[in-house]
Amino acid sequence: MEKIAEVENLVLRFYTYEGIVKALEKVSFAMKEGETLGIVGETGSGKTATALTFLGIILPPGKVEDGSIRIKSGDRYIDVIKADKETLRKIRGKLVSMIFQEPSQALNPVYTVEEQVGEALLAHIYKDIYSNALKEINEQLSQLEENRNVMKRIRLIFDKMVYERLNRNADDKLAQFLSHIPILKRYRRWMRKVIRRYVIELLKQMDIPDPERVASSYPHELSGGMRQRVVIAIALACRPVLLIADEPTTALDVTVEAQILDLIRKLKKDYGTTIAFITHDLGVIAEMADRVVVMYAGNVVEIADVKEIFRNPLHPYTKALLKAIPKLGTKELYPIEGTIPNLVNPPNGCRFHPRCPYVFEKCIAEVPQLREVKEGHYVACHLY
Ligand code: SF4
Repeated sequence: MEKIAEVENLVLRFYTYEGIVKALEKVSFAMKEGETLGIVGETGSGKTATALTFLGIILPPGKVEDGSIRIKSGDRYIDVIKADKETLRKIRGKLVSMIFQEPSQALNPVYTVEEQVGEALLAHIYKDIYSNALKEINEQLSQLEENRNVMKRIRLIFDKMVYERLNRNADDKLAQFLSHIPILKRYRRWMRKVIRRYVIELLKQMDIPDPERVASSYPHELSGGMRQRVVIAIALACRPVLLIADEPTTALDVTVEAQILDLIRKLKKDYGTTIAFITHDLGVIAEMADRVVVMYAGNVVEIADVKEIFRNPLHPYTKALLKAIPKLGTKELYPIEGTIPNLVNPPNGCRFHPRCPYVFEKCIAEVPQLREVKEGHYVACHLY
């Protein structure tokens, strides 16, 4: 399978009053076309920071100090880290898109579902929307009887003129000027009509019952599961090449979680999207992922196929994570001793060494490098 994205030596720092947070340290991994890559680790391991870097939305005091994220666009690769604002605007939604953790925070409470999903559509498929609006205007014009409805005809000819200009140039100055004049901006209702149709179709694909009503609703009028389906609709509106799902089921109860996981699986099959699935839940990883990246304190510590990770984990942190899963029939729980380190002042050498039962001198003196120990199985540990 071809690589769809490649992260190489990514270094991310946050310059805070408490000191420099070393959030990501030489993070490297690749994603293959059509796969679901699970990214796991405790809170603070750098999963979400990595995802936000993919979209180029790390804001100050955060700064990407080094490395690259190359995403495939047609027959070339675009480096998100080096991309300018205009390229990033084009990439977001179309090339890479994200399902955020908490749907009630991801949606804007003062806009309807139709407006929020429609915004994503308009940003990327405006050409389709304009040409469909033009088609509707032409149809209505052809249905008007000769010498009758003169005012309506004039209005339609005016709308047609604006959409022809927009079709030629989406940034048409005249259309932008007209959109500020209340009586003249009525031409936009064609656009709204077409967008509504697209939105309802998309909501249907998300298995949302009564999509017409949901399209006209505000987020607070919907249940948590429904809101998450809307967030997924926004993320998939422009059929991105790469979808990042950042703990998409964390805020949901188990029944709704199962429905949302089914939906993501179905959409992946229908759209052929490559997915980066971020979670701390290894049960979800077992269900969803083809390959797994294990992160700890801003480092990638292990990469392998999902079966290999569960059957033959190598890194002591991966082993501890798997051992910590509660098992039916046993009363014992096996938490990982200690806590994730403060990344302002991370431990020397292997960042896991204060919690590792196998620690030895070399672990404190030297940072272990990620290396392939078996075909497709990479680990960063001095034991291997
Ligand atoms: Fe443990 Fe050493 Fe391996 Fe780190 S490098 S995980 S401290 S054995």
